Amino acid sequence: MKKRNTILLLSVMMFMLFVPGIQSQEIIAHRGFWKTEGSAQNSIAALMKADSIGVYGSEVDFWISSDGIPVVNHDATVTLNSKPLRVEDTPFETLRKVTLSNGEPLPTVEEYLNALGTCSRIKLIIEFKSHRSKEHEAELARKVIDMVHQRGLQMKVEYIAFGIHFVQLVNQLDPQAAIYYLNGDMSPQVLSSVGAAGLDYHYDVLFRRPEWVQAAHELGQKVNVWTVNQPENIRKVIDLKVDFITTNEPLLVRELLKKPSPCRNNRNSQ
Ligand code: MG
Repeated sequence: MKKRNTILLLSVMMFMLFVPGIQSQEIIAHRGFWKTEGSAQNSIAALMKADSIGVYGSEVDFWISSDGIPVVNHDATVTLNSKPLRVEDTPFETLRKVTLSNGEPLPTVEEYLNALGTCSRIKLIIEFKSHRSKEHEAELARKVIDMVHQRGLQMKVEYIAFGIHFVQLVNQLDPQAAIYYLNGDMSPQVLSSVGAAGLDYHYDVLFRRPEWVQAAHELGQKVNVWTVNQPENIRKVIDLKVDFITTNEPLLVRELLKKPSPCRNNRNSQ
């Protein structure tokens, strides 16, 4: 009986590997799962809610304060008492007074990683934001990677960045870590030569350069795409066979992944 079950399992695995059209494509919730009650972009609640719906990853943006505290925020500025403040020029004590739309205080990276430690399966896709100061960027990467290691979270994080120098930085600080490049202007061949794990490009780039998906796969790289929210674009990136889809609509992407794509069927029948 056991032997028969093993043979059955192996047959299913072979079928999934070789039958065209069956792919494993994963969903990443952009800035967490925030389009839901009690959540907000880049909040700890958004991370926990992304974990609760069972997606592969939750994306998040990291900056460093002027006094060296890594914090979570998307934009280069925050607004406090109707005044814009640059995150990297502002001390943490002031940044902490900022409240997210769900009532959470602006989180520290430490708090975010502690929350990740309690999640059941989700990966945190950490974006290192481009700072004006290269010293701030290096300090941010070093401190974040140290915190990840102190908590034993290496297998639960991946990194992304627009700055190509972050690829080198992450490779130096943690050679086992995966870092993907966001800026859309380098071929998979060039990214492979600088040690990136793959590309994470805007969907328009991949619509113009669909051949980059296969080229990346042939080089052993993974392909992520951002930020895909409209059904027609979601269907197109599914058809492109990207590995990860970063989206503000994780439930919609999941629904479309379950449905056969008419586009893909047409292609297969040619
Ligand atoms: Mg981001």
